[in-house]
Amino acid sequence: MSVLVPPAVIGIVGGGQLGRMLAQVAQRRGYRTAVLTGGDRETPAGTVADIEIAAPFDDAGAVERLVTCADVITWEMEDVDLGVAEAAADVGVPVRPRSRVLAVASDRATEKRALEAAGVPVAPYREAVGPSELAAALGALQGPVIVKTARGGYDGKGQVRVPATQPGPERAAAAVEVFRRLGSVRLIAEREVPFDRELSVVVARSLSGEIVDHGVMENVHVGGILDTTAVPASLPEGVAAAARGIAARLVRNLDIVGVLCVELFVTGSELVVNEIAPRPHNSGHCTIEAAAVSQFEQQLRAVCGLPLGDGTCRPTAMAQLLGDLWACGEPRWAEVLTDPAVHLHLYGKREARPGRKMGHLTCVEETPELALKRVLAARERLVS
Ligand code: AMP
Repeated sequence: MSVLVPPAVIGIVGGGQLGRMLAQVAQRRGYRTAVLTGGDRETPAGTVADIEIAAPFDDAGAVERLVTCADVITWEMEDVDLGVAEAAADVGVPVRPRSRVLAVASDRATEKRALEAAGVPVAPYREAVGPSELAAALGALQGPVIVKTARGGYDGKGQVRVPATQPGPERAAAAVEVFRRLGSVRLIAEREVPFDRELSVVVARSLSGEIVDHGVMENVHVGGILDTTAVPASLPEGVAAAARGIAARLVRNLDIVGVLCVELFVTGSELVVNEIAPRPHNSGHCTIEAAAVSQFEQQLRAVCGLPLGDGTCRPTAMAQLLGDLWACGEPRWAEVLTDPAVHLHLYGKREARPGRKMGHLTCVEETPELALKRVLAARERLVS
């Protein structure tokens, strides 16, 4: 099994903050990075990479440039043109994780089927390709239903909650309206899970099959966007072990070399998988300060064929910094930078827009609760 050592070039598909944090750790270890951005220039990842290729994912010339300069290709997003993987195969460059898993995870229908096939619990769901199928799905699922576009939705976009409907014209009208609102595309309807809390497990798998996670994260979403993460989640031992077991089963079953994030709902002691992402995840950002080896370093180690490191997390919390914080001008950075226990991460995005992820704060403390209190207080100070 060949191991990639510095100054090998890590080819990263996607120019966002996940690619940026991977490029930063790669650079610290002496690797070089090349980023295919999808089109934009001076992207969060591209500005820290050795090479930024500012071109669409289906630009054959740009893809060729990426695969001919890279020693391995990895991804920081899943909804991309998979021609990159074919081009890499043509020149014998490994792609980790393989593109098949991206195809599975970027479509909620194939994702649900893969989760079921792996034997993990999911919320009852139906696929729907038109209003009449959607009406049938609303009837079959009963109660409130979350309807999601099969492709392209993220951060709560492309989602509509439909309260319980009566059979007949009311349900048919609701289905027509929701189908139209979501753009008349292929849909997934899921029964709403009355969860107590949202969790995630970020797990890495090496080329030799070793599996390491960072424990269970507890996440709070606001308006469909991840707002805070605290680790370790305070859960009964058995529930935490079950969540980690599900993540290990999935990363093995999907034959991933790299990182997988599994998002779950917990109701009582019952776990349901909401979705998966075959890459580092927002909820794993706290691992940079919390663990000896972060999710980004695990990704680097996995794709380079190296053994994984210790992912155990100290009690830590993360608070997202969205573009909304810029509403009245630049946030007051000095207010957090003067507290050395609070770590500021900015993604280098020039334009702040509401809902846009601009950065995050983390804090390591004696308990996850104290860490959360401290990052939230720090975030308040940015705009007070
Ligand atoms: P998603 O894009 O699937 O991660 O959904 C974004 C957020 O919507 C989740 O983090 C949940 O807060 C909520 N959500 C999505 N699906 C469901 C569901 N079936 N039941 C309850 N809440 C959901």
